[in-house]
Amino acid sequence: MRRVILKISGESLKSNKPYGFDDNTINLIINQIKEAIKFDIQLVLLVGGGNIFRGKDLASIDKYKADEIGMLSTVINGLYFSEMLKNNKIDNKIYGSFEITDIVKLFNKNEIINDLENNKIVILVGGTGHPYFTTDTGVVLRGIELNCDEVILAKSIDAVYDSDPAINKNAKKYDTITFDEILEKKLGVIDLTSAVLCSENNMPIRIFLSTGENNILKVIKGENIGTLITV
Ligand code: UDP
Repeated sequence: MRRVILKISGESLKSNKPYGFDDNTINLIINQIKEAIKFDIQLVLLVGGGNIFRGKDLASIDKYKADEIGMLSTVINGLYFSEMLKNNKIDNKIYGSFEITDIVKLFNKNEIINDLENNKIVILVGGTGHPYFTTDTGVVLRGIELNCDEVILAKSIDAVYDSDPAINKNAKKYDTITFDEILEKKLGVIDLTSAVLCSENNMPIRIFLSTGENNILKVIKGENIGTLITV
């Protein structure tokens, strides 16, 4: 059975709002998830925090503490998203890279695999659990640990390009590209830590436009949209 891990960024939960949640957008995501799980798919969701706090936006305080605040934002998002899934009768369980007694259980591979095999969606929060990382690295790490077939990264751009298409109208779009090329050309579409991790562990990443119609449904099902990054 296909097992995938999808990153839901904080950005995608707030839509055009300056901060917080946009329930219409969240419901659009949830409707696609509802469709996707009718197929033989095991789904892990790793939730970001950028709609509440990003460490790098808190420049006036110590970076370590700023990142802890950022990681806590991912917990708030995960809890909210989990409840929204439950409102839609989608069975799910939430795990964190750190435990919050009675609220978030500590990440446990065996329990999570068991949940997935019992048709539960698993929501992961807390990123890697360490300051100085991002949830892009978290999703790759967890994808590898949970033996996922693919890491799926929803972005505000539809694919990987050789330069910024907003600036260069001749920018070349890639349907496929290797991690080595990403590292060599220092393409900023994924952070370099996650590119190295994926490359060393032979874990493909698909990049796609989060807001395209039914794009989330398509990528979870395995349709070939956006860019597939491989070894
Ligand atoms: N963060 C962290 N370690 C991690 C993941 C996240 O310290 O492993 C912090 C970091 O400050 C980051 C914030 O949590 O800015 C929210 O995560 P991210 O920016 O990746 O969320 P997104 O932009 O995807 O919503």
